[in-house]
Amino acid sequence: MSEDKDSPLFIQYQNLKAKHPDEVLFFRLGDFYEMFDSDAIEISKLLNLTLTHRASIPMCGIPYRTAKIYIARLLRFGKKVAVAEQVGEIAKPGKGLTERKVTEVITPGTALESEYLDGGTNNFLASAFVKNSKLAFAYIDVTTGEFKATSFDQENLEENLPKEISRCRPRELLLPKSLEDNAFLSSFLNEQSQISVSYYPDWNFNKDLCYEKLLKQFKTASLSSFSLTKESPEILPAGFLLDYIEKTTNTSSPHVRSISIYNDVSYLVIDGSSFRNLEILGNQRDGSIQFSLLECVNFTKTAMGSRMLREYLSFPLTNLEVIKRRQDNIEVFFKDRALLKRFRDFLDGILDIERLACRIAMDKAHAKDLQALRYSLENWIRAKESLPSSTFSLSDDDDAKTIVDKISKALLNDPSTSLTEGGIIKEGWNEELDHWKLVSNNFSQVLENYLEEEKSLTGISSLRVKKTNSAGYCLEVTKGKLSQVPSHFIMRRSLMNADRFTTAKLQELEENLNESGTKVLELERDLFIELRDSLKMYIPYLQKLAAEVAYTDVCASLAFAAAKHGWVRPIMEESLAFEVSEGRHPVVESHLPSGEFVPNDLVLSCEKDSARFSLITGPNMAGKSTFLRQNALISLLAQTGSFVPATYARLGIVDRIFCRVGASDNLAQGESTFLVEMTETARILHSATEKSLVIMDEVGRGTSTEDGLAIAWAVSEYLLEQIKCKTLFATHYHELTRLEHSNMKKLCMAVSEEGSEIVFLRKVISGSAANSYGIHVASLAGLPDSVIKRAEYILNKIQKESKGKDIVNIENVEKVEKDLSINAQQSFTGALFSDEELILDEILSVDLDNTTPMAALKMLSRWRSSLSGQKS
Ligand code: ADP
Repeated sequence: MSEDKDSPLFIQYQNLKAKHPDEVLFFRLGDFYEMFDSDAIEISKLLNLTLTHRASIPMCGIPYRTAKIYIARLLRFGKKVAVAEQVGEIAKPGKGLTERKVTEVITPGTALESEYLDGGTNNFLASAFVKNSKLAFAYIDVTTGEFKATSFDQENLEENLPKEISRCRPRELLLPKSLEDNAFLSSFLNEQSQISVSYYPDWNFNKDLCYEKLLKQFKTASLSSFSLTKESPEILPAGFLLDYIEKTTNTSSPHVRSISIYNDVSYLVIDGSSFRNLEILGNQRDGSIQFSLLECVNFTKTAMGSRMLREYLSFPLTNLEVIKRRQDNIEVFFKDRALLKRFRDFLDGILDIERLACRIAMDKAHAKDLQALRYSLENWIRAKESLPSSTFSLSDDDDAKTIVDKISKALLNDPSTSLTEGGIIKEGWNEELDHWKLVSNNFSQVLENYLEEEKSLTGISSLRVKKTNSAGYCLEVTKGKLSQVPSHFIMRRSLMNADRFTTAKLQELEENLNESGTKVLELERDLFIELRDSLKMYIPYLQKLAAEVAYTDVCASLAFAAAKHGWVRPIMEESLAFEVSEGRHPVVESHLPSGEFVPNDLVLSCEKDSARFSLITGPNMAGKSTFLRQNALISLLAQTGSFVPATYARLGIVDRIFCRVGASDNLAQGESTFLVEMTETARILHSATEKSLVIMDEVGRGTSTEDGLAIAWAVSEYLLEQIKCKTLFATHYHELTRLEHSNMKKLCMAVSEEGSEIVFLRKVISGSAANSYGIHVASLAGLPDSVIKRAEYILNKIQKESKGKDIVNIENVEKVEKDLSINAQQSFTGALFSDEELILDEILSVDLDNTTPMAALKMLSRWRSSLSGQKS
């Protein structure tokens, strides 16, 4: 960089940067990409680069040869990169300025090179838009062609947008400016640090333009075959995504051939926070796959399978028939372990056919990519042959065989990845190429023959051929033989001991050689491109085949997981049943030494007079959360078609799973967690149906004991009486066990107490926990003895005071009126906290021997004013 901010070079930089304010500008200077100003300050920190200054301008740089590594890291940080290359003549130092242009923009959601992608994960770019009280959401993976969209009522934005985002986990999200002020969305997106979010003016989401964009992309006259009209809200984010991709990547994406419109009816709905609470694709701590459900079941061998498995876990099914079909397919592998092993071995040899097809479509595939495709297809043909033909309905191999045949005939086994350096095409593929190769390969022999010819013609036996960089090929004659030089020798150069000549024939030979070299390179490139283009007609076939590989890989992976972990095929039905024997938490179990996980049964039934609501009590660390979640995960796994961690399971199809965790379990997220907890609880109460499975773990914990208990109680009643769904409700509020209902059963975590020794047995048994053992846990944690003693004393006193409280059966409290949501709370509050009850308690616990007449009088006065509703 030259001296100051007004130097022509820096002005050139600033002009380019002005056009790319949102991207980090990589400015090519010789062998480096340099970053300046605020880019340099930010990126030097992110990438740990040395920050230097030139004429007070901050700068940092990276070698251009290793740029991809740095770009990949920046994309992971959610950054976008614009690469400004030197174009045209390179200016000599001090002589003008080399022209520079932004030749490439790479963003997290549009990156195409394998260096920037994670093989087993989709690279989604997503967008959302709100119009006419509808929220539409669309997402696309340009590297595979997957394109999906959905829409909801705008009023449910706060529920649905996080849900969709959690399911597809986009790397980049494009939103309209009008959503920038949505506080809820901003706070949700702030937590999603891995997503690069950008806002665009709303006019980008123009109905006509977006509609046209989609028509052009799919080459159709209307979008009716995708269940879309011009008025469909999905058009807007979907069209905008296509426009963004085209502008960013500067290429078209012909392999994106359709869009799939989905809705919640086809899938088991899991809202965003439940999805995260259940740690399905990543753990809550750092979002990585470790300790997630995915980690337990992902034994896929191909990148395509891995991506599909993620999708299956994000979108469990509700269609019984499809679930059973998946189960059948998994069972084929589960029952025949030899087949499972053989098939998985073949899968080892299958590379990412889906992304290879995309590279072909986008003219990005090189010869090694095509060989990888061939190799993968050969292995797929063999893998397919090993499967029993009746089980899986798979495409036939004819096209695969044609492609394999073409590639193996046309390309060298280990071809070059460069299009311009030759080393690509096999002999026998093209006559002209073979001819020119022959010319160039045989040149030394041709030259040798010519030399012999001239030797015998001139009689100069010492005649030699020389090649120099400046003059090319020449004939060299020593000084003593110059007299024998014939007239067709043309003098080129005189040296000390010899002279150099050329001849018309030698020039012709040399031209031929040069021509053949260029011809070979040109022909190799043209023939390769021709071959690659000829494969474009197979893209739809390859995409279908990739989906079949992925599907069989997922089935094999789930069978492998079931065999490895000892899982069972659940009986699935259209009912409200939930019956699990010896269920286990798949993740907790897999991280414990074998045999240490204690299995637990659960039976919930929505039939009249049977228990659909389980209230689970037990001390902290006893295993309540584990039990709750394991049942949610069993339900979810079953609806992906997977086997489940149990010895027996009979499960009705569930429409939604909610997993709400009490605020204090989520403190790390800061802000008003109690408000968040209540908002989410409200959402459950609004959206759950009789077919839902609701998991409530310590709801109400984020506020004072009385409030919390009251809320937990009222919520329980509402679930029992109004929604009537299957519910697992874990609480440490012992008072809640006083709630009675014919559709409720009480479970607790067994604890063995022998003397001062307390052991959590992790076994779920009928009944309510007698003790919270909190003081025991506190003493284990090392609280001072005096504190423990004092706590024991206080506990003792509280327990004495609360003795004798009646069980509250909400069915008897009052006639249950239609809207129990309000009424139930009132009846409960009256029953448990009535002044009469409190006063009665106090009377019974008064120590008469130690009460003075004056104190007794005061008490009496207080009780009277309390009962008459006055302040004492
Ligand atoms: P709680 O919700 O009652 O506080 P957790 O469900 O968080 O308890 O369980 C605490 C720990 O106990 C878990 O991290 C796990 O290691 C262990 N645990 C829970 N359930 C079981 C079980 N069924 N078998 C073996 N260990 C368990």
